[in-house]
Amino acid sequence: MESFEEWRAEAERHGVPLWRPVLEYEIHQKGRSETEIWERLAQVYAVMRDAVESGLQAPRQTRSGLVRDTGKKIAQSPLHVISPEFSLLLAYATAAKETNACMGRVVAAPTAGASGILPGIYTFLERHHGISLQTIYEAMLIGAGVALIIEQKASIAGAVGGCQAETGTAAAMGAAGIVYALGGNITQIFESVALTIMNMLGLICDPVAGLVELPCVKRNGSAVVIAAAAAQMALAGDTAVIPVDEMVAAMGEVGALMDARFKETGLGGTAATPTAQAIARTIYPDLGTLRYEDPPH
Ligand code: SF4
Repeated sequence: MESFEEWRAEAERHGVPLWRPVLEYEIHQKGRSETEIWERLAQVYAVMRDAVESGLQAPRQTRSGLVRDTGKKIAQSPLHVISPEFSLLLAYATAAKETNACMGRVVAAPTAGASGILPGIYTFLERHHGISLQTIYEAMLIGAGVALIIEQKASIAGAVGGCQAETGTAAAMGAAGIVYALGGNITQIFESVALTIMNMLGLICDPVAGLVELPCVKRNGSAVVIAAAAAQMALAGDTAVIPVDEMVAAMGEVGALMDARFKETGLGGTAATPTAQAIARTIYPDLGTLRYEDPPH
């Protein structure tokens, strides 16, 4: 299964839902039974929910001070830009990512840097749409299928493809899960992935002081918003026009051409601002000035 079209063909050939070929892959790859895979998915989702909950309950501050109760502040704010539910979606995702930044237990799906996005989306689906746990586990398998293809054709790592690869992939996995859980068909699921990638294309990886904290926590928040927007468009019957496999290829091309400054080196973008550099020097007093040297030709 190396492309979305192959995945669709496989599911349609056997008349099964999209998650079934991914389940078969997991059984084959891990050498586990179907029952064990479902049990494992339940364990994984339990960790995701705990990450959201502990991020919302306990005081959250990293040693650097760059991250400080973002999820809790949003959850407790009396003002809502769109709706209380929208605020909670943001709060869940940022809270789970803060749990990671504070060295709590998370599921690195697809990476630790993007570990708030899927917990935020699945928790939201369970709590605010009443989606069953079984459907959430199926959505998780669909998300795994999305990441499997993106990993082969582009990247899921910020150090390789920029933040589009990391939070972008997580958002695409989440969008597919939303559409599936709310009853969308295969075409709508794939359109949501294409729309998400289209709207996160080019996002650079630029963590301040090289710590996976800022802008990472905020980006986990904005990524769930893009995932929700893409899912909403797809469920409404809108399309990305560009097929999802072509959008994945575009993501791979953008990642390959991206300058090394924007691939988790902490030398470009947000990380290179004077304030970020001053923060980095307070954390690492011997650091000196961060400067990017052009590689020799
Ligand atoms: S900025 Fe870099 S480290 Fe932070 S979430 Fe994005 S890819 Fe990960």
